Amino acid sequence: MADKTYFSYRQIHRTVKSLAERIIADKYDPDVIVAIGTGGFIPARIIKTFIDRPILTVGLRLYDENNRRAEVPRKIQWIDEVEQKLAGKRILLVDEVDDTRTTLEYCLRELLSHGPAETAVAVLHKKNKAKRGVFPDEVTRYWIGQELEDQWIVYPWDAADIDEHCRIAEEDR
Ligand code: 5GP
Repeated sequence: MADKTYFSYRQIHRTVKSLAERIIADKYDPDVIVAIGTGGFIPARIIKTFIDRPILTVGLRLYDENNRRAEVPRKIQWIDEVEQKLAGKRILLVDEVDDTRTTLEYCLRELLSHGPAETAVAVLHKKNKAKRGVFPDEVTRYWIGQELEDQWIVYPWDAADIDEHCRIAEEDR
């Protein structure tokens, strides 16, 4: 089994499109998309093509410069303005991957403390593994673009050589 899986922009766009179509079919109509940066930025922007709502961004970091995982994510960017815009709103929280779920849980608890009407989650990829984090009870809707085995996912926005990256990604399938 390969220990890394590569995805091209084209593959990601297709997955996000199908994810957005399911959110629409399930009749979830968010007021605002909240993207967890930086990995959630591009998936959130693609979702906006199909669900045209404003995107607010927050920046969280679970791994340090030496790739060590922290217990609790660090807030890189958390704007007061974001918090003020959440009360009474239906939120769609977007990230690229649900790995240990630590980041999603932390972010959801922070967002819920600002009184949104409803908070739902959409991720591009979910790794099938035991989770450290849990979704708060208030979160009842969760959409997944694609479920994967527990391996490292290499995203195109991290590629130094995008042509080589996409060649590997599209050869994999
Ligand atoms: P968590 O463990 O909290 O679910 O994930 C924390 C963050 O680690 C994710 O938002 C993502 O930025 C990063 N991460 C986790 N697994 C992967 C992976 O397989 N590939 C990449 N590129 N980032 C990952």
